[in-house]
Formats: sequence, C-alpha cells, structure tokens
Amino acid sequence: MNIQIIKILDKAKQGQRLNTSDAKKLLQAKGAAIYPILSAAHEKKLEFNGQEVSYINNYNLNLTNVCTNNCLFCGFNTELHAKDAYLISKEELKKELEYAKEKKVSEICFVSGLHPDFELEDYREIIKTIKEIYPKLHLHGITPEELEHALRNKDLDFKAGYQILKDAGLDSVPGTAAEILVPKVREIICPEKISTSEWIKAIKSAHQVGLKSTATMMYGHLESIEERVKHLKLIREIQDETAGFTEFIPLSFIHQNTELAKKGLVDGGASGREDILMIAVSRLFLDNIANIQASWVKYGPKLAQLMLNAGANDLGGTLFNENISRKAGKDTAEYLAPAKLKAMIEDIGAQPKQRTTLYQKHNL
Ligand code: SF4
Repeated sequence: MNIQIIKILDKAKQGQRLNTSDAKKLLQAKGAAIYPILSAAHEKKLEFNGQEVSYINNYNLNLTNVCTNNCLFCGFNTELHAKDAYLISKEELKKELEYAKEKKVSEICFVSGLHPDFELEDYREIIKTIKEIYPKLHLHGITPEELEHALRNKDLDFKAGYQILKDAGLDSVPGTAAEILVPKVREIICPEKISTSEWIKAIKSAHQVGLKSTATMMYGHLESIEERVKHLKLIREIQDETAGFTEFIPLSFIHQNTELAKKGLVDGGASGREDILMIAVSRLFLDNIANIQASWVKYGPKLAQLMLNAGANDLGGTLFNENISRKAGKDTAEYLAPAKLKAMIEDIGAQPKQRTTLYQKHNL
C-alpha cells in the first residue's frame, strides 16, 4: 500500500486538516489504493452523521430555458425566439405548485435561464407568488449568477439584492454557477458567467444576510486535478469565514448534448474512479462542512448508492420535474419517489432520513 496515502489518511483520522497537496495525492490514487481512501471517508462520514443518510422531497422549477448566456457545458439553454423556448406563465406556475403540493414536497428548488426581460422585481414577484400559494414551503433559489443578472440595471450590491429577495420570502440559495472557481477555466467554459471573485462576493453576501446556501463544483471537463483542489480550498475558506454552507455537492460534468462535446473539446466526463474519489476526498478535505451529497441525478442511482459508503451522507432530492441534467444528456435524470430513495439507503445498510433543506439537526 502507498505509504504517502496511509500517512494522509492517518492525518485525517486524527482530525488534522488536510492540505492541498494531500488532496491532490488522494484524488490521483489508482488501483487498490482507492479502497482505504473510500473507507477513511466513510469513517469520517460516520463521525459527522452516524448511520443516517438523508434525502429531501423537493420539486424542481425551471421558469424559463431562455438564457442570455451561452455556457459551453450547458445543454439546457436556448435563444429567445427558438422553437423550444419557453417561459412559464403565472397560470402554469400555479398548476406546477398545485402538483408540488400534491406530492407533499418540502422544498421548491428554483433555477432558470437568464431571461433578457427578467429584472429584480420579476424575481421578487415570483417569490411572493410562490409564497402566497404555498406559504410553508422552503424556497431555494436565485443563484449568484441569477442575482447578478437581476441586478444588471440596478445600483445595488449583492447584499442588498439578497436582502430584498429574502424579505420577499426567499429561504436559501443554490450555490451553483460556481462550476470551477478558477478564472482560466471559466474563461473557456462559461466566459459570460459571473467571475470567480464575484461569485465569492455573492455567496458571502447571501450568508451575511442570513441565507444559507449549498456549495457545488462541476468537474470532469477541462480542469486539472490541481484546479479541482483549488476549488475545494476556496469553498473551505469561505466556510471558515461564514459557516453559511449547508452541504457540498460535487457535480460530475454531463457532456453529451453540450457545446464542449460538439466542438470536440471534451471526449467524455470523469471516470467512475474519479467520481467516487471526488466524494471521498471532499468528505476528508472539507472538515467544516457537515454534509456531502451524492447527487443521484448526476451519478445515476447505482453509483450514488455506492458513494454512501465512501463519504456521502445525502442522496439529494426526489427532484420532481428535473430538466437541466436531462437536457444535457443524462438518461437517469427523472424523479425518484421518496420510497425509492429510502429503499436505496436501506439496501446499503444505512438509516434513511427525510430532511429539510437546511439539515437543521446539525449545528456547525
Ligand atoms: S448554465 Fe445557466 S447561465 Fe449558462 S447557459 Fe446554461 S442556463 Fe444559461
């Protein structure tokens, strides 16, 4: 067995913080050396969460697929006058919410394209409408990217923007649009998107006004192992400062229907080894984030289930109505009923627990 890996895992077991060189070595492990890493990450998961594995009954709402950006990894966006362009009407929104109510979801996750007509007032109105129809629901929406779009014609900073949306009823924020927080990779895969420094500013602003958020990383495209580690370090530093992240969600890049694939810039996403190591290393490196999610939408239910014994303690949501991964070419991205998620968790030997968005049982 690789002596360097044993030393790093011992360090983690003793509760010492791993450095970036440790994380890089773990992510590069191959052959049988990966198993002790998965096992150490599982031990760490047990320290954080015991035998419990959680999931959430939630509903995905994509208000529009029209987007002024053209990120090369996106298979969801379209142009304003394209045949497949849609913008959900107030009536349709009400219908969707009625359906969500029937499914007894506890959260609406609300992420959309950047519609050229959407202003801060529109986002505010949508939040208020949802809250009027379904006041008890947790509303998880408005990524840093969407907020930047909403504020483009306003003389307001991120903090003021998130405060206005919080006052309207927003409960928490998806930490997406982070992709890889490394400028030179962002310049290629999403040149129009919010910059690394602005993303950090926006997410800290959300935390400062009392909105918790998730933290994400999309990997498996053009970034190097060092850049994955850089991203993890940034997330850990933000969490040291704000304690505002509820969970970390690694998102393996789905390439099929994206411009990156069409232009021949990628020939596939991350391998299964890379995916499971990403979960395990996230668990070992992010010693200040209580929850690591294995997204069944991104990994497929079978690999996601195995990740529950490799550092992950959450399977994500039922995601009624998931569109974004499906449009990018993932054939497993349909909703999973709570009973199905529960069965997957029991089958791997863990205790299922339906959770709220904020994992309120943890006090980090
Ligand atoms: S990832 Fe988001 S911002 Fe980028 S093109 Fe797709 S919908 Fe638009």
